[in-house]
Amino acid sequence: MSKTNQHSGASPLLGKYSKNLGFDAEPDTNVGRVLRLDMPGLPHAPSYWAANAGEEVNTSGELETRQETSVAIIGAGFTGLSCAYHLAKKHGIKATVLEANKVGWGASGRNGGFSMICVGKDEYAETLARLDVEEARQHFHVGLDAVKTVEEIVRDNNIEVDRSESGWINIAHKKSRIADLKETKRLLKEGFGYDTEYIGGDELRRTLINSSEGCGALLYPDGFGLNPLKYARGIARAAIEHGATIHDKSPVLSWTKEGGKHILRTPKGVLVADQVVIATAGYTLDAMNPWLSGRILPAISNIAVTRPLTPAEQQQAGLRTTQMVSDTRKLVFYYRLLPDGRLLFGARGGIRDEGNLNHKAYEWLTQRMVDMFPSLASVKVDYFWRGWVCLSRDKNPHMGTTDDPTVHYSIAYMGNGVSLASHFGRLVAGRIAGKPEEPKITLFKDPLPKFELPAFREASLRAAYVYYGIKDRFL
Ligand SMILES: Cc1cc2nc3c(=O)[nH]c(=O)nc-3n(C[C@H](O)[C@H](O)[C@H](O)COP(=O)(O)OP(=O)(O)OC[C@H]3O[C@@H](n4cnc5c(N)ncnc54)[C@H](O)[C@@H]3O)c2cc1C
Repeated sequence: MSKTNQHSGASPLLGKYSKNLGFDAEPDTNVGRVLRLDMPGLPHAPSYWAANAGEEVNTSGELETRQETSVAIIGAGFTGLSCAYHLAKKHGIKATVLEANKVGWGASGRNGGFSMICVGKDEYAETLARLDVEEARQHFHVGLDAVKTVEEIVRDNNIEVDRSESGWINIAHKKSRIADLKETKRLLKEGFGYDTEYIGGDELRRTLINSSEGCGALLYPDGFGLNPLKYARGIARAAIEHGATIHDKSPVLSWTKEGGKHILRTPKGVLVADQVVIATAGYTLDAMNPWLSGRILPAISNIAVTRPLTPAEQQQAGLRTTQMVSDTRKLVFYYRLLPDGRLLFGARGGIRDEGNLNHKAYEWLTQRMVDMFPSLASVKVDYFWRGWVCLSRDKNPHMGTTDDPTVHYSIAYMGNGVSLASHFGRLVAGRIAGKPEEPKITLFKDPLPKFELPAFREASLRAAYVYYGIKDRFL
């Protein structure tokens, strides 16, 4: 019997839905991938974070008048908030953020909270083959700098983020991937001067994670888990303290340019700006800006969170660390123990956000969790939710300026935006202030590429899921 079928239909976990599960709520992104700009101020996804992040940020509320600003930022996730914070704190530029819903409503307030080193989806060997060694080293170190940016923002502003133990454990989900991990360790050391620790299967099971499939692991010492909504709210409060303005419930419905100024219209107000930053990630509508159209591909990620596990249940499940964990699949599973003993378990979730499909996504995800940790079969799942990550044609994140030198974007973190969005937001701020901090490497020089056939983006993602699914399972 295959591992996946072992519990099919039989798990007592299936059917134990609690009121917090996402598919019972109003779909927040409507059918497909359409953001509801006609319903400003939507509630947060029904996440564990939303239930445990305290008060909303005291913003300037809905934009209801005509206002002027030097920099308008569209989107109050990590990208937009970090940009506003760094513009105000480091460069004395008081930007205005327009957010359709609430601070951290998008991916930033509902992700897994893994702040880790990961720049794009290329293997390190592919990066080394594509770029010269020095550039590849700098490319990798952008990821390390990104983790440090998160550390710095949290520390400088005393943001309480429920931090986990440091470190990310990348687990070989089958024996054939052990060699890949050992090769990665060698490349990281010899190519980029970065030390990781290889942990054999026995030690992994004894000291860190004893799942049904861990064969060995690579431990990256940097990075940590956090409550992403607390973090987003913390950056927002710091940005406001330093002089930025945030208007929530203020979707940008139209964007024109008159006399060299950008005119952003919201349902009740107008913002006139010299420069604009697009920080809307997987929630970007193609119509947002003609240059950006056809350049990004949103995809769903799902998260389930169990009820708190007792220390004995954690031991029985084989969960012996609060460090961040993911596996060597291309279609990765990620999980970690939260400070109150709950298991957060996440994975990719397709390309449609519809009530009935979300129900299936829940069943699929929780079944995979039980496959990996069979003793959790009878444990209730308290929360389930979904959100959009943002992918690009070349599998790399992008920060840049469009064909209009006053329009900047930072986008497509490939599902790893906790640290990258925080860092890239800071880099956009430096660029706007005329004090660029980014290294002069391809990552920041090449524009976000367009998909050759934008109309077929979803179909190509579907095909990629099938291809990678087969690779993950059989190779
Ligand atoms: C379920 C899930 C799990 C994830 N887990 C991780 C993880 O563990 N680690 C990690 O590094 N990354 C993770 N990610 C990815 C990460 O969350 C994102 O890369 C990152 O948060 C993107 O931040 P952002 O600020 O660019 O965009 P977002 O946080 O998505 O914010 C975009 C905002 O723009 C607003 N907006 C859109 N259009 C308009 C408009 N016209 N007018 C005004 N506002 C508008 C939206 O309302 C939204 O709030 C995950 C993502 C998801 C969905």
